[in-house]
Amino acid sequence: MSEDRRVRTFRQRLEDRIREAIIARHRRSGVVLFSDTTLRDGEQMPGATLEPQEKLQIALALEKAGVHSLDAGFPASSEADVEAIRLMVGRVRGPVLTALCRTVRSDIDAADRALDGNPVHKRGVSLFCGTSPLHRTYKLGKSRTEILQLISDTVGYAAEKFRIVAFSPEDASRTEVDFLCECYREAIRAGATTVGFPDTVGLLTPEKSRDYIRRIQDGVPELQRALLAVHFHNDLGLAVANTLACIAEGANVVQCTVNGIGERAGNASLEEVVMALTLHQEQYGRTHRVDTRLLAPLCRLVAELTGIVLPLMKPVGGANIFATEAGIHQDGLLKNPDTYLPFRPETVGGDEIRLVLGRHSGRRAVAHRLQGLGIPHNEALVIRIVEKLKLLPKGTIVDDVLLQRIAAEVR
Ligand code: MN
Repeated sequence: MSEDRRVRTFRQRLEDRIREAIIARHRRSGVVLFSDTTLRDGEQMPGATLEPQEKLQIALALEKAGVHSLDAGFPASSEADVEAIRLMVGRVRGPVLTALCRTVRSDIDAADRALDGNPVHKRGVSLFCGTSPLHRTYKLGKSRTEILQLISDTVGYAAEKFRIVAFSPEDASRTEVDFLCECYREAIRAGATTVGFPDTVGLLTPEKSRDYIRRIQDGVPELQRALLAVHFHNDLGLAVANTLACIAEGANVVQCTVNGIGERAGNASLEEVVMALTLHQEQYGRTHRVDTRLLAPLCRLVAELTGIVLPLMKPVGGANIFATEAGIHQDGLLKNPDTYLPFRPETVGGDEIRLVLGRHSGRRAVAHRLQGLGIPHNEALVIRIVEKLKLLPKGTIVDDVLLQRIAAEVR
């Protein structure tokens, strides 16, 4: 063996040690790592095209929020993705930047070029290959053996170029568990540092998700040397619930998108998973490193740049989350905001509580608004205004001008 060869082998062994130490540290810490795919799976949503500059802006906001890694794009699929990743290299320093690849060597080369210049511990690839009977038969026309071979070949190739290599069996939730475990074992043996469990078509329930994770942990002893990531779609409205179920079962990495944007019914929504985890840390026994105070502004930024409008009722970021028109709730909120809120606006960096005046509003809220406007009032005037509000057409929102007019009318 030549000197060069020995040195390389030594280096490779050192690399292996570093990888294992990083993974062991993550596993021990109990921290749930957030991997964001707003810029890739999110942007895949019809109508949500982002310019490279806008992707950079979102990536920087995600970095500030404390996300662990960013699925930055699919270099082999488009030049625009390459351009966006090139913009991030050197500018987005906190999170690991990963690029999506098929189990194709040229995809890995494209990712390598796109991420060139980023530090080795901040650049990775995320390989995927369909493994379910449906994908094997209709999409790939490959046998189980051929797929295992493909995984071992391409993951091994990726591991020569990247320290961080993820492998996900696409359509995992419809793949036979024994084969799924074989795929994971093969991937980890070939050098994968993370293996993913994607519920590609979003059909699982929390109980079944949990059961999958348990069976994978039992069937893949190699998971001691790799992290387990989960990726859920929201076709049954269960993406967040499924993600939490997997966290409870020990998943290390959760992949989400801001506002839950993504293919079809979207992905697990980052801000919702973060808040559920924040409010129930004792239940999950896990922590995270996301700054919740930056969530609402992040939701608004993504809505603005993607053009995908936030529904009024969207948890965390929606316009109605800290607003109420109901008299009893308004009275409670004025006495103590916690009476009718799961968390306060400042926790997520949201707008202050908004007491909307309308048909359902009561005396306390009316008096509060009059006070704010500096309009002199007494109990009798307030009662007359409330009576008047009840007669308004359904859905009327009473702004300051209208309130002043009503006050003048009934005075
Ligand atoms: Mn997906």
